Amino acid sequence: MRRQFEIIMPTYTHPIPHCIRDDDHAVPSHLSPLTSHLSPLTSHMFIELTDHLRCPNEHDESFLVLLPNLMEGRSVRTGALGCPVCGRTFQLADGVLDTGDAPAPAASGTSLDADALTALVGLHGPGGYLTIVGDAGALWSDVAALNPGVSLVAVNPPTGVSDSAGLSIIRGGRLPLKSGVMRGVVLSRPYADDPRWVSEAARVVLPGLRVVGEGSDPPPEVLEVMASAEGVWVGTRARTELQKPGGR
Ligand SMILES: [Zn+2]
Repeated sequence: MRRQFEIIMPTYTHPIPHCIRDDDHAVPSHLSPLTSHLSPLTSHMFIELTDHLRCPNEHDESFLVLLPNLMEGRSVRTGALGCPVCGRTFQLADGVLDTGDAPAPAASGTSLDADALTALVGLHGPGGYLTIVGDAGALWSDVAALNPGVSLVAVNPPTGVSDSAGLSIIRGGRLPLKSGVMRGVVLSRPYADDPRWVSEAARVVLPGLRVVGEGSDPPPEVLEVMASAEGVWVGTRARTELQKPGGR
């Protein structure tokens, strides 16, 4: 059952940390016509991110099936993502995945700039994904320039941030991302003050890698704070969280 869904799984052409590499993505030969029209990898859009997406509904962690309708290169412009567990579908329009439950824009801004964000999240080397939640998503292009080879996911970014090479955009009420797959997560205000979003960030970040938040310090049972100053903190997933299963 699962095998037939893996036709949309990515082929990485840049170094990926071993901990998130998954070599079990062979494309069955009888499915190859569906992917044969794809151009060489030029960006890291949803066709790649789909590997890391999960259904946001309340059930055990499940992957999503990408059903592309219109593609430009490797960017899926329109289509849908379907959950084989609960049957829900989520629309992908103008390159944006919208799960329909995004909070109203808060327009809280960010006190970070791209240099500070890069230093705090502390990625060293290319590969994988960095997720930025909220208004700090406006910094994505400068962050991308400072972190070559790292793909970015902007969740609920300010209006004006649109689908671009190297950036995937999600709008929703939680992170529709699999557990333990992100190299870093940044929570702008007011997300860093919301325990549910803090838990989501802790869930999706790779063990030992960082969550950066703008707001009050996070609950210690969720994130262990490494540093905190002037309303900005850096933490890693608490040991108690590490013992939780992937589901919510
Ligand atoms: Zn589902």
